[in-house]
Amino acid sequence: MNPALGFDADLIVVGGGPVGLAAAIEGREAGLDVVIVEPRDGPIDKACGEGLMPGALAALHRLGVDPSGHEIAGIAYLDATRLVEHRFGESAGRGVRRTVLHAALLERALDAGARVERAKVVGVESEPDRVSVRLAAVGSSADGIDANLRTVSAPWVIAADGLHSPVRRLLDLERPAQRDSRRRYGIRRHYALKPWTDLVEVHWSGEVEAYVTPVDDRTVGVALLGPRRTDLDAALASIPRLAERPAAAPAITPLRGAGPLLQRTSARTAGRVLLVGDASGYVDALTGEGLRVGFAQARSAVAAIVAGRPARYERAWRSETRDFRMLTSGLVAAARSPLRHRIVPVAVAAPRLFGAIVDRLAR
Ligand SMILES: Cc1cc2nc3c(=O)[nH]c(=O)nc-3n(C[C@H](O)[C@H](O)[C@H](O)COP(=O)(O)OP(=O)(O)OC[C@H]3O[C@@H](n4cnc5c(N)ncnc54)[C@H](O)[C@@H]3O)c2cc1C
Repeated sequence: MNPALGFDADLIVVGGGPVGLAAAIEGREAGLDVVIVEPRDGPIDKACGEGLMPGALAALHRLGVDPSGHEIAGIAYLDATRLVEHRFGESAGRGVRRTVLHAALLERALDAGARVERAKVVGVESEPDRVSVRLAAVGSSADGIDANLRTVSAPWVIAADGLHSPVRRLLDLERPAQRDSRRRYGIRRHYALKPWTDLVEVHWSGEVEAYVTPVDDRTVGVALLGPRRTDLDAALASIPRLAERPAAAPAITPLRGAGPLLQRTSARTAGRVLLVGDASGYVDALTGEGLRVGFAQARSAVAAIVAGRPARYERAWRSETRDFRMLTSGLVAAARSPLRHRIVPVAVAAPRLFGAIVDRLAR
């Protein structure tokens, strides 16, 4: 950091979710003075399938983070009568509660020397030599945010402020949203249930996909993807394989939702601001690799900053998200088409193709 230039840090990370925390750790490892701006107190929960693919787990290990959870040995697709499974090769994934993941990443970021500012970003201005970030303090006023505004600045900002990224909107990097009828949403809940499998099970029903992920020895998470206002209980009751378990087990977390899932961006950098994680664009949770892709982006963004070449990040983003954009978009298109009911039978009939796609997305 160069206080003579009036900087508050070398790097400001907006958003202290998993990808923002990973970026902060990468920044500290690269010797940068890092401030994370996050309005919420941790550990932060979120609607998520909570399946860390092998590549996501490897990225966490590289960062020195090893959250506890339940081993995930592969992925299964199921409908009422069929099942196909693919087991990962040597390296397993892990089902990890978001709160556990967040606590582990936050602890590591703080140990590495990142500072956390509890505030909300309400303005961003990228100038030729700096970024000025306007903060609203999280206060005790009725709406939770008091009127105190102040500005901090740094040579670089990484925006990791999630699916509905305010920074992306402030910098005019958003592309138009999809028609309402095509939008997909996610909801999730946890059940007190001993996991019966070490796979992430994806149950395909008429309109929704239900993801079952073991997250510890006594807890199973269910995430549902589908149209807006899907009723989770009714949806689970309509899936014969899930009607007994977990639908009949005690729910131990409140419902959480997220969406619309598809978020498109016109660019991932604006001057000295780099978008990472869901803020940089998101396709769908159908293939469960948001965290893996986000951690890779955090690494590339910091490398580009250290090199002083933000354009490098744009190139890295394109290559890191290619499979996610292509394969996931293709699968979502099939899921919304009249061919939807053919997805599981095709995967059963072509297990090698199914395995190749799973491996490609899990790397
Ligand atoms: C239903 C569902 C299931 C999923 N399942 C999986 C899965 O199984 N595996 C997987 O890898 N991925 C999965 N994903 C995707 C994964 O959850 C995301 O990719 C991941 O959470 C992205 O992390 P992030 O840090 O970019 O964003 P977030 O986790 O959303 O964090 C963003 C942070 O920014 C903060 N913020 C927001 N506004 C501001 C502001 N103005 N100022 C400062 N901070 C701000 C927020 O408080 C938040 O803490 C799933 C997603 C959904 C919706």
